[in-house]
Amino acid sequence: MTTEKSQRTCSNGHQYWKSSDCPVCPICEKNKSLGDDVLNKLAAPAKRALANAGIGPLSDFSKFTENEVADMHGIGPNALEKIKAAMAANGISFSK
Ligand SMILES: [Zn+2]
Repeated sequence: MTTEKSQRTCSNGHQYWKSSDCPVCPICEKNKSLGDDVLNKLAAPAKRALANAGIGPLSDFSKFTENEVADMHGIGPNALEKIKAAMAANGISFSK
């Protein structure tokens, strides 16, 4: 059994080293869990607002403009900042 590592580049342009043939990029995985974590940690009114808007995974925010999300009842400036930071970490932008 070989332990030789190979350098890979994922579809998001992250370079990483893998010794197995698992295709999962560790940086994407980390960012993905970071995003889900942020949404899970929002206050209850913010979570309800997102559920009402049909927003599940972080990537759903790309269907909305920043103003639309800011205007959702229950989304405060604090929640919006957290959402924006998680989106930036995952390379997701609001609709324009
Ligand atoms: Zn990646």
